[in-house]
Amino acid sequence: MKIERIEAEGYENVVMCSDPDTGLKAIIAVHDTTLGPALGGLRMWNYKTDEEAITDVLRLSRGMTYKSACANTGLGGGKAVIIGDQNKDKSERLFRAMGRFVETLGGSYITAEDVGIGIQELEWLHKETKYVTGLSRQSGSSGNPSPFTARGCIRGLFACTEEKFGTSHLDRLHYSVQGLGQVGGEVVRCLSMLGARVTVSDINEDRCVEFSALPGVEVAYGDEIYDIDADVFMPCALGGVLNGDTIPRLKVKVIAGAANNQLLTESHATMIHDHDILYAPDFIINAGGIINVSVEVRPEGYDERTAVTKIENIYNGLREVFETSRRENLTPAEAAYQVAQNRLDEARQVNGHSVADSTS
Ligand code: NAD
Repeated sequence: MKIERIEAEGYENVVMCSDPDTGLKAIIAVHDTTLGPALGGLRMWNYKTDEEAITDVLRLSRGMTYKSACANTGLGGGKAVIIGDQNKDKSERLFRAMGRFVETLGGSYITAEDVGIGIQELEWLHKETKYVTGLSRQSGSSGNPSPFTARGCIRGLFACTEEKFGTSHLDRLHYSVQGLGQVGGEVVRCLSMLGARVTVSDINEDRCVEFSALPGVEVAYGDEIYDIDADVFMPCALGGVLNGDTIPRLKVKVIAGAANNQLLTESHATMIHDHDILYAPDFIINAGGIINVSVEVRPEGYDERTAVTKIENIYNGLREVFETSRRENLTPAEAAYQVAQNRLDEARQVNGHSVADSTS
């Protein structure tokens, strides 16, 4: 564990969770609770090393702080990862053990779905802790956030295509979409329904076969997706895909996808800018899910109409970022960090300190 990095980047709490009885090995990172309790999904992934898992959870939780700050959710940033194979290692006992760790944080961290985790696993967690969102609609919760994330991405696409191509006719463009999961799959269905041309890729061949049946959809195999001569690239799988190897291969004019932490490092935002590609900062365009669950944790409870109205604002959020970027000669990523940092600084001036205990 790199303690210097945790201190330097301002993480409030990083908890290593180990339960030998169930085989649970997990990490919870609470990055910042200035704006509210740290809400962020739980990911299950077969990390090759513990180091890789730590890096992932630290980056993801920090991203959640900026995402919530920009989207005005009234929440802080946190995230959790379970080190394990989502196809083999899931059990009620394991997720209940995870729930007990979440409970020990007393509400400074609230969990939800992320890669590899659905409502069933969250129901198991919920048997041990109340700090869970995104449970089933039948239980009064906000349900799986993924369709809302997809909705936000589509809304964000309008801002991107207007900025770069001067059109809001999404159907006239060609999209390359990496990842056909809960979010990417929904985005592709929507684009196909609008009549757009879409080239897709997924490491899961069954998903590729399933989606190739949709009108306008064709499949790219392996990493060919980076070479597609499309207008818009939508990374909807994992992070780090925008890097020194992939950016020079891209022929698109816009990058606008749901995946968290798409840039391998912050400097890759400059590389994208230098290639004359418009980048929609991931934590702005993929905020639909967090906006949806933030409505659930309000004292008045969940209301879908409120959530959808707020998600529509992703369009305005991106327009603000693009305008700031143009005006101040920043990359869109730098402009987005500036918006987030200003909100955090203002709140710190008012609060003087963290508000982590506001929901407990
Ligand atoms: P998911 O697990 O449902 O889907 C991910 C898909 O990507 C899977 O189908 C997987 O097979 C595929 N994949 C993995 N590696 C790939 C590769 N190298 N090439 C092509 N496909 C690959 O996850 P999801 O919930 O759809 O989330 C997708 C991304 O969006 C993640 O980065 C997640 O953190 C981010 N995100 C999700 C939400 C949400 O509401 N679910 C919200 C914000 C951000």
